[in-house]
Amino acid sequence: MSLNIEIQKYLAEMKVELSDENISAIDIYIREINNWNTKADLTALKGYESIFVNLFLDAFTLLPFIKDKSTLIDIGTGGGFPGLALKIFYKELKITLVEASSKKCVFLNYISNCLKMKNVNVVWGRAEDVGKDIFYREQYDYACCRAVAGMSAISELCMPFVKIGGVFVASKGKDTTEIKQAATAINYMGGKIEKIEKIKYSFFSEEKNIVIISKDRQTPEKYPRRNGIPQKRPVKV
Ligand code: SAH
Repeated sequence: MSLNIEIQKYLAEMKVELSDENISAIDIYIREINNWNTKADLTALKGYESIFVNLFLDAFTLLPFIKDKSTLIDIGTGGGFPGLALKIFYKELKITLVEASSKKCVFLNYISNCLKMKNVNVVWGRAEDVGKDIFYREQYDYACCRAVAGMSAISELCMPFVKIGGVFVASKGKDTTEIKQAATAINYMGGKIEKIEKIKYSFFSEEKNIVIISKDRQTPEKYPRRNGIPQKRPVKV
């Protein structure tokens, strides 16, 4: 099976190579997103090519910052982005997908079984609660997050999961001001911005930024605060 669009132009620009097996998995995944979209509300994107570009290629922009055979947690993964898309490429990644919507979690279990993936743990819950659980707290080499909340709030939601020595990779839009303003919050959470990598490809409508945050200290126990507070009252300077 192959994707019914011309994908080589995209992959050449990104310098990403996909195997036939990867392509077949993406094809099944996109078809299932379309089948499930009305009941699970997975994405507002319409059409096969738009989903390929804005969910899969967008997730693949994180590949250079993540190593295979590591542990990764994706917070507010929705239909599995970026976490489950990265798992297609890095087969030996051990991933945890945290998602507050139960319908989306049903989809995530369904699609990861369909694609015969191993080491995928779908957790139905809010990051504010899951981040307090010692089974998940400070257990991961990487946390990632896309399109969930502002930089300060997602630092509070994601950093508690990262091991000391691990990395939080945040997929953000073109606005670097909110990223820089979150430096204090990131510091409170035990981390430091190592790099803001600008991402620019002809097929994305806007420039993006990937924020690489290292963790060298434990996150204080009081974080994350209770449900909704990190977003409503983000830690400020
Ligand atoms: N990351 C996906 C989905 C973005 S939409 C993508 O890029 O396509 C935001 C998702 O985060 C929604 O599915 C929502 O249910 C989930 N979410 C928002 N706040 C959350 C929280 N505190 N804990 C867990 N999931 C959350």
